[in-house]
This record gives sequence, structure tokens and C-alpha cells, in this order.
Amino acid sequence: MLIGTDGTISVVWEKKSPTNSLLLTEMCNCHCLMCPQPPKAHDKTLTEINSRILNLVKIEKNQTICLTGGEPTLLKEDFFDILGVINKKHPKTNVMMLTNGKSFANF
Ligand code: SF4
Repeated sequence: MLIGTDGTISVVWEKKSPTNSLLLTEMCNCHCLMCPQPPKAHDKTLTEINSRILNLVKIEKNQTICLTGGEPTLLKEDFFDILGVINKKHPKTNVMMLTNGKSFANF
């Protein structure tokens, strides 16, 4: 759970869920009309919070981590840092990512 500065409590990880999602950023390089979550400036605390979550949780091998945004790849080095934490702490976990794929044009 995450307790915000305003006292709100958010569930950020459910131990028994087959898939947990991490919101890596709300920034995006698209402006889709149907977007349920229009792009916002990146909140750098998200990267720190997500790294801490990944360092604290225990993930079973049949569970999946979903990386989502916004567009996760726009984090560049921070995105690779998150993948590095997953690789180090949860090497057998399935990883799924929601992406618009634009960054993959830059091989
Ligand atoms: S790519 Fe996804 S996050 Fe970005 S604007 Fe489109 S629907 Fe929203």
C-alpha cells in the first residue's frame, strides 16, 4: 500500500493477483482521441516508487508484471533501470508492456 501526503491509501500490489501493473509514467508521445488517460508531465517519484515496489515484493513464476503508462519507453534510462531491477530481483517473472511502439523505430 502507498499512503499519499493527503492521507489517501492506494493498493499498489496484490500478492495473489495473476497480473500486477506498474504505472511507469503518464507522459506519452501520442495524443489518441480515445485515450482514457491523456498525457501529463512525468512525475519522477513514480520511478522511485516503482523501483521500491519491485524491490519489496515476492513474485511467483506464474505471475505477470505489466508495465504501463502513458508510454513507458519515453523514460529512456529510467525505463532500462526498471527492467534491470526486474531482471535482477524477478528473473523468472513474465513481463508484459503496454506501448504505442513508436520508440522501436529507433533501433
Ligand atoms: S498511446 Fe496510449 S497512453 Fe498514449 S495517448 Fe494513445 S492511448 Fe493514451
